[in-house]
Amino acid sequence: MSRQFFVGGNFKMNGTKESITKIVDGLNKSDLPENVEVVIAPPAPYLALAVSENKQKTVEVGAQNVFDKASGAYTGEISPEQVKDLGAKWTLTGHSERRTIIKESDDFIAAKTKFALEQGLKVILCIGETLDERKANVTLDVCARQLDAVSKIVSDWSNIVVAYEPVWAIGTGLAATPDDAQETHKGIRAHLEKTIGADQAKKVRILYGGSVNGKNAGEFKDKPDVDGFLVGGASLKPEFVDIIKSRL
Ligand code: PEP
Repeated sequence: MSRQFFVGGNFKMNGTKESITKIVDGLNKSDLPENVEVVIAPPAPYLALAVSENKQKTVEVGAQNVFDKASGAYTGEISPEQVKDLGAKWTLTGHSERRTIIKESDDFIAAKTKFALEQGLKVILCIGETLDERKANVTLDVCARQLDAVSKIVSDWSNIVVAYEPVWAIGTGLAATPDDAQETHKGIRAHLEKTIGADQAKKVRILYGGSVNGKNAGEFKDKPDVDGFLVGGASLKPEFVDIIKSRL
């Protein structure tokens, strides 16, 4: 089964008009492979800027978060419609920084994922275990629980990309080994086979995220269940292009 290689760039709460224009310009000037799907997720205030600056056909823009309602008295929240109105096509949901710092629950993340899909956004659904959970050997149980919250209420997974991001690997410089990532991705796909069916499970792209950079991205090349990357820190740097090209 050939799944299109996918690279997401999560800028987190970083950037200014000037720096985001520079990053998008850098992508515009790069010779990007036609067969790699790229999504950049700047902070919400810069979505329109990233959309208007982007000239690459293979690059789309996404939000880092959305709410599970269309509009109303939800101060500070952003609706999928508003994200779409700015020309963005994607959103992240369930990033571990939102799960741990903002205390978003599995069910809330699932509700946002469902609503975003219904409103026509594609979703990068982030899952992954903490260091304590890894030490307790419950990595796949945690991923299964986070996925099940979504599969309970979403049956069509064609517009979902799963990003497996072990929390201990995010922003730490300590990436999972390619073998570890492959083993977990394989387990995630096996679990999805049971919950959303074999046909959908073999089509869902599963990205690895956590301290991916221009140097280590190529090491995941021969891992059959690693369908791309979600990149934080390195997506702000020129090496993001090396990650996009890491499967060439
Ligand atoms: C992320 O924020 O999704 C991420 C993977 O961060 P980093 O690449 O910096 O570890």
